[in-house]
Amino acid sequence: MIPGRFEYHRANGIDEALRLLSGSDGERALLAGGHSLLPMMKLRFAEPTHLIDINGIEALRGIREEHGELVIGPMTTEAELLASDLLARRCPLLPEVARQIGDPQVRNRGTLGGDALHGDPANDHPAVLVALGARFVLRGRKGERESPADGFYLGPYLTDRADDEIVTAIRIPMPPEGHGAAYCKLKRKTGDWATAAAACVLDLDGERIRHVRLTLTNLGPTPIRVHDVEDLLTGETLDDGRIEQAGQAAAAATDPAEDLRGNAEYKAHVAGEMTRRALRQAAAQAGGKR
Ligand code: FAD
Repeated sequence: MIPGRFEYHRANGIDEALRLLSGSDGERALLAGGHSLLPMMKLRFAEPTHLIDINGIEALRGIREEHGELVIGPMTTEAELLASDLLARRCPLLPEVARQIGDPQVRNRGTLGGDALHGDPANDHPAVLVALGARFVLRGRKGERESPADGFYLGPYLTDRADDEIVTAIRIPMPPEGHGAAYCKLKRKTGDWATAAAACVLDLDGERIRHVRLTLTNLGPTPIRVHDVEDLLTGETLDDGRIEQAGQAAAAATDPAEDLRGNAEYKAHVAGEMTRRALRQAAAQAGGKR
């Protein structure tokens, strides 16, 4: 439980962090809240020789509205997501997810960026950012680029981010007024990761579903976007039969690993139930049928 030797650097700005990250001697890692990286280092699953602390970079914090989008700094903590008036009004799904992460200590230090960029398929934010149509803004030696969350996750602990890149912002198209959203997560106890969870974002045209996105957490090597559910429901009303079909389609889309939280059959079953609940909650919030 003792990490390997490393040199600690505190970056005061994005340019300094980029310079430190692009050094050629040994492996480098960015330190955000440390709640995932430090346990990995103690277990020697990660052995960076240079640790670059980005906690002092103010430009990486904050939540604002810009050109019809929400722009969130990756160093924004879960507690800050929970306290944001802007998110409570315009995107209550994000505080709803933050509320279900870890415990107060984790939420006080752990950041949106750290959770989303670690690449752990058990983390809650990745599937939610895919459901919200988020994009990561990355800066590296070759300049700045954007990468959609849908497609960013390539495998367990493997993302589209290059080693020399820092995520400087997370951009989320503003969910339409009157949209509904829900994150339904089954966990064994407070502070645990999901056995299975479903995120749903939808908006209605009268009683019919205009747009819907449905994603799953911890049910495969990456977050899963369930296109079959989206195709099944788009343009339709949400009755009991369709909710049941959607649950079955979500269960069929899973590829879970067996662990202490259950076997594959149980997790697929829970995925179906979380999907049904998320759809009902999101539709009720959007003013549709329960
Ligand atoms: P760190 O651990 O510092 O970093 C994580 C990774 O992200 C590192 O590889 C780092 O280099 C990279 N990174 C961070 N910022 C950037 C950036 N700007 N650009 C590029 N790369 C970056 N998570 C859940 O989702 N759900 C849970 O229920 C949950 N329960 C938990 C319970 C406990 C007891 C603990 C200890 C953790 C739990 N977590 C849970 C994980 C927690 O949310 C972590 O805080 C999170 O996964 C990592 O965020 P961090 O800020 O601590 O990042």
